[in-house]
Amino acid sequence: MGLLEGKRLLITGVLTEASIGFGVAALAQQEGAEIILTGAGNGMKHTEKSARKLPTEPVVLEFDVSDPSHIPALRTELEQRWGTLDGALHAIGFAPSVCLGGTFMDATWDDVAVALNISAYSLKALAEVVAPLMPNGGSIVGLDFDNTVSWPSYDWMGVAKSAFESTSRYLARYLGAQQIRVNLVAAGPIKTIAARSIPGFSKFEDVWDERAPLGWDVRNAPGVARACVALLSDWFPQTTGEVIHVDGGYHATGA
Ligand code: NAD
Repeated sequence: MGLLEGKRLLITGVLTEASIGFGVAALAQQEGAEIILTGAGNGMKHTEKSARKLPTEPVVLEFDVSDPSHIPALRTELEQRWGTLDGALHAIGFAPSVCLGGTFMDATWDDVAVALNISAYSLKALAEVVAPLMPNGGSIVGLDFDNTVSWPSYDWMGVAKSAFESTSRYLARYLGAQQIRVNLVAAGPIKTIAARSIPGFSKFEDVWDERAPLGWDVRNAPGVARACVALLSDWFPQTTGEVIHVDGGYHATGA
């Protein structure tokens, strides 16, 4: 009996096989879940290609978090297919290039607004889709990067992650009465398309393995998907508004 036997999950953010969302989708299927993926814009064809590489090919629906009309459309589609669902993974992030890589002072509000909309507010947009379809409670899990300090290059994405964390705590507050839990997994650096788009991200990658007490492999971090699956399961029934670090212990140690 798998950890997610009988559960129906919406998984966002599967772009390539390296995507954190892909690892969660594959493990969720292995643990017995039925899943639906979402993709966005030009990435849709990549999501559909990646879907074919999962143990069982799932349906792929469109959900661009920057388009408010997609919220009711996706909710209606899920309601027609499933009626209710048990969980959702938020694995979405984007910032215009000027928001990353050391040009912090050059980013305008219009640039920053895009980063905040797609990378932080979108957690609330996802909750708007799924919460009405969770009459028996559920679990929403998002992917975070520790932002208690400033990092080289991460810049406005770090600011967006702070907003993302805060959004998760408010969602935990407002959805708790419906027994919907909202938690984040703060992962160490992983080589994905999103990570590659951050100039200087390799600086994190080099130092992480050296400093993390448990070590860290940017190409192989199965603990991230496992933590997400555990939070999507019934094994954290009284945990919400939490950030769980899956980073080899890096966040807990000094130089
Ligand atoms: P990825 O590039 O594989 O995934 C990013 C996803 O965001 C893609 O699937 C893309 O389609 C989606 N996306 C972008 N704009 C969107 C929009 N408007 N609407 C809907 N979806 C949109 O990279 P990833 O590293 O797997 O990123 C997943 C999450 O993990 C992100 O929130 C990221 O910040 C977080 N994270 C990544 C790392 C890392 O080192 N890779 C570390 C910690 C947290």
